[in-house]
Amino acid sequence: MKMCDVLIIGGGPSGAIAGASLAQKGFSVEIIEKLDFPRFVIGESLLPHCNAILAKNNLLDTIIKQEYMFKPGAIFENEQKKYERYDFRFNIGEEYNTSFQVKREEFDDTLIKGAKSFGATIHHGVEVIGYNQNENIITAKNREGEEEQYRAKFVLDASGYGRVLPQLLDLEVPSELKPRKAIFTRIENDIRAEGELVGYITIFIHGDNDAWIWVIPFADGTTSVGVVCEDEYYDNMNLTTEAFWDYIIYNDVNAKERFKNAKKLQEVVKIDGYSSNVKTMHGKGFALAGNATEFLDPVFSSGVTLALVSGDMAADLIARELNGEKVDWQTEYQDEMMIGVDVFREFVLAWYDGRLHEIFFSQNKKEMFTRSISSILSGYVWNKKNVFVENSKEKIDLLIKMINAETD
Ligand SMILES: Cc1cc2nc3c(=O)[nH]c(=O)nc-3n(C[C@H](O)[C@H](O)[C@H](O)COP(=O)(O)OP(=O)(O)OC[C@H]3O[C@@H](n4cnc5c(N)ncnc54)[C@H](O)[C@@H]3O)c2cc1C
Repeated sequence: MKMCDVLIIGGGPSGAIAGASLAQKGFSVEIIEKLDFPRFVIGESLLPHCNAILAKNNLLDTIIKQEYMFKPGAIFENEQKKYERYDFRFNIGEEYNTSFQVKREEFDDTLIKGAKSFGATIHHGVEVIGYNQNENIITAKNREGEEEQYRAKFVLDASGYGRVLPQLLDLEVPSELKPRKAIFTRIENDIRAEGELVGYITIFIHGDNDAWIWVIPFADGTTSVGVVCEDEYYDNMNLTTEAFWDYIIYNDVNAKERFKNAKKLQEVVKIDGYSSNVKTMHGKGFALAGNATEFLDPVFSSGVTLALVSGDMAADLIARELNGEKVDWQTEYQDEMMIGVDVFREFVLAWYDGRLHEIFFSQNKKEMFTRSISSILSGYVWNKKNVFVENSKEKIDLLIKMINAETD
């Protein structure tokens, strides 16, 4: 049996950042990763808050060297040509205010190599299949089908969509968000905006808020284009996955212009059932980070930010616990993480029920609100100086009332 201080399940952003952090703090770290890297995973648009976490763990310079597409902000546009641009620099004073558009196969590979350079051991092609919580023993299976066991002082589940411990410990609960699908591919010959607008993520609202389209430009000239809609909307079209993507893109007022010369570079893929939740994010000897906890929705590109923040936060707490300090995982980890998750959840709900569109496309909102929204869209969802961080729902509803009162 192999022994270690910390065993991390999964080598995506949450596992890699936790591994990098703990290895730099001097702990022995084993990361068990089912797949060989580079491997594809969706989630290509990052937020400025990622840079803060990467910098804290001495990985930002490594990421900057990769020369990913620079992402200055987000643009939202509907079919009536209403348009709103959020520039991350115009926030409420956050330190890091730009981000990147990344092919995740490259970004995640860079991060895991970073964790390795700090001393974490990575086992690719090994799948975690069992967990004995009483003794903190993980059972894993390698490519040859041989089983190996690891005894760890602490286990961090960063297995993303694999949701290893939520499944093994029966921690899963359904998401409160409606089931939606994402249908996406990568293309070339994107007719991009020029100059400073080139790296923005663009979100086109399709029809009467029936679907939305993400447009994520990469540095090599290719672009990720995805459609997100409710299951029912997709099912009622009764089209193949590729025909559905074509139908939406070439019937959308904005997308059909931008992609009139587009050539698909790969198969159109559909994923669904991605929103998920758990009963708890921690237990005796273990914690969950990243998508192994709650995953909301792709619309505000929050997934990798939440993965990095939770992996980093969990690593700091694990270090304290292994150094003999008492850690209150409920208040110091779960409650703390949920502050940010709840803000994003409210923004996601307000996006789909149309409240956020009212705000985004209003001429009446004051600069202060634009800056606060820009901070939220940058991933700074824990900054209590931001009016939207506490009681987000009330604040969103109040802003709509103010906008409507000025319009009347
Ligand atoms: C349609 C869609 C679009 C999205 N767009 C964005 C976006 O633009 N920006 C953004 O920030 N986020 C986006 N996301 C979210 C993003 O994909 C995730 O939040 C992010 O990948 C989570 O990182 P992670 O480290 O928690 O998990 P992952 O990146 O999923 O990594 C988990 C790793 O664990 C490994 N693993 C799984 N099971 C096992 C096992 N049994 N044993 C060993 N290893 C295992 C996997 O192979 C994987 O490498 C999107 C999500 C969806 C569904």
